[in-house]
Amino acid sequence: MKIVSLKTFIMHVPVSKTVIGDSTHTVTHWGMPGVMIEADNGLVGYGYSGTHADLVTDRLITNIISEVFAPMLIGEDPAEVRYLNRKLSRSSTNIWVGRGGLMQMALSAIDIALWDLKAKEVEQPLWKVLGGSKEAKVAAYNTDCGWLVRDTPELVDDCKKMIFEEGFNAIKMKIGKPNPKDDMLRIEAVRNAIGNDAQLMVDANAKWDISTAKQYGTRLADFDITWFEEPMWHEDVLSHKILAEHISTPIALGELLYQFDTYKEFVVAGAVDYLQPDATRCGGITAVWEIADLGMAFNLPVTPHHGDMMQAQLHLVMAHPSCSLLEYIPWTLDCFEHPVIVKDGFYQTPTAPGAGTTLRKDAMERFCVK
Ligand SMILES: [Mg+2]
Repeated sequence: MKIVSLKTFIMHVPVSKTVIGDSTHTVTHWGMPGVMIEADNGLVGYGYSGTHADLVTDRLITNIISEVFAPMLIGEDPAEVRYLNRKLSRSSTNIWVGRGGLMQMALSAIDIALWDLKAKEVEQPLWKVLGGSKEAKVAAYNTDCGWLVRDTPELVDDCKKMIFEEGFNAIKMKIGKPNPKDDMLRIEAVRNAIGNDAQLMVDANAKWDISTAKQYGTRLADFDITWFEEPMWHEDVLSHKILAEHISTPIALGELLYQFDTYKEFVVAGAVDYLQPDATRCGGITAVWEIADLGMAFNLPVTPHHGDMMQAQLHLVMAHPSCSLLEYIPWTLDCFEHPVIVKDGFYQTPTAPGAGTTLRKDAMERFCVK
């Protein structure tokens, strides 16, 4: 099998309600700048990154794919995914101008498309290619009920619906209101509404400073919070280390880290308890697997960011021993030929060949922008 072409695309898919917001961003659409990699046997691999649907920066990502990385890939065997990931990530261009942000997001889309091709070539779902088992149980936790822009009654209703009507056993809500006391009241209202059996996580999206995080992070223990996600600025290892020594609630982070070495700094410092790599940002399935190995070495669970927008991660989570829980946000479900299915709080085992990333033609016609 040899790579014969790379075709880029940008999709902007509407999110579930009119607007979605956390402490840092509000979005109306989810951006999927991606690539279709075609092989000489006619197979096509699909991969994409994930953005807040900004056309200007999405174009930069697809330009990197087509102008920088594509010439390095034409003629290569797409099944040699780890070798190709290394070839691109250690290319002089990447070392000189990249290693994070746009370059890494472009690399992520390519890596996911290559894994999709590799699994399609052998006509197996990717989890099997990665050595996983159909017996693997992957729990889903739902974030699409806990947005900060929703008032407390709506937040409570949405969270109750996920637990009592849709069968989830775990949900996550956003915090980071101007007054943290309001966050505490909202957490208390949700915990009281969903009962003590369901898992509840909170996510500050890097809003707080160390003083706020210490003062209010301590109170999270009163509500049996599974983890406190992104309490402070993304790369601030020292502050997270101090916080981890101060509060009993475990700390989760990683969705906006782009480099293995940054994860390593957090892990070695004891500044994180749950690792949350995102395959569409940190370098694809190859990179998430390496970060999951890092987690395993330090006995840390790995719970990748955004399970549904990057369906490929389900395959990885099924196969890696450090993973058993995956985020669920259903905004882009209708875009895929084989969307993930959650039943009674658990992902169903994918059976179609590939990474689950193949996009529907009608969805591409509908949501692609130029
Ligand atoms: Mg988050």
